[in-house]
Amino acid sequence: MMIILNTLIFTATFILMEVLAWFSHKYILHGVLWSVHKSHHSPRHGWFELNDVVSLLYGIVAAPLIYYGVQLEHWMLWVGIGITVYGVVYFIFHDIIIHRRIKIKYRFQHPYIKRLIRAHKIHHKHQEKEDSEAFGFLYAAKKYEQTMKRGVTIER
Ligand SMILES: [Zn+2]
Ligand SMILES: [Zn+2]
Repeated sequence: MMIILNTLIFTATFILMEVLAWFSHKYILHGVLWSVHKSHHSPRHGWFELNDVVSLLYGIVAAPLIYYGVQLEHWMLWVGIGITVYGVVYFIFHDIIIHRRIKIKYRFQHPYIKRLIRAHKIHHKHQEKEDSEAFGFLYAAKKYEQTMKRGVTIER
C-alpha cells in the first residue's frame, strides 16, 4: 500500500513542479524577477548565468525534504525526490537537449521532443520581458507542432 501512495506523491510532485515552473516562468521570471531571468534571454558569458540561481532554489527546498524524510520515515521524502527528479529531467531537456550546454550533436526525431524544442525556440525569439509565449518546459501545446519554419536558431 505504501508503495502506491509514495508513487502517487512522487508523480503528483513531478507534475506540480512543471505547473509551478510554468507559473513562475510566466508570472515571476518574466515579471518582478526579470532582472535575474534576463540573463537567460541574452548571450551567456561563460558556462553559468544568473538565471541558474532559480534551479538552485529548488535544490535548497528538496534537500531538507529528503534529509528529514529519511530521518523521520516521512512521505515528504517523496516530495523531495519528485522535485529532484524534475530538476534532473528539466536539466536534460532544457539545458542539454534544447540549449546544448553540454555539447551533443544528436538530432532528436521524436515528435514530442521536436515540439518542445520548437516551443522553447519560439519562447527565446522574444528577448524582452513582455509578449513572450510558451513558458512550459516539459509541456508544449499542440499548436507548436509544426508552426516554426526550419532553420530558426535560439537567439540568446
Ligand atoms: Zn523566459
Ligand atoms: Zn531556455
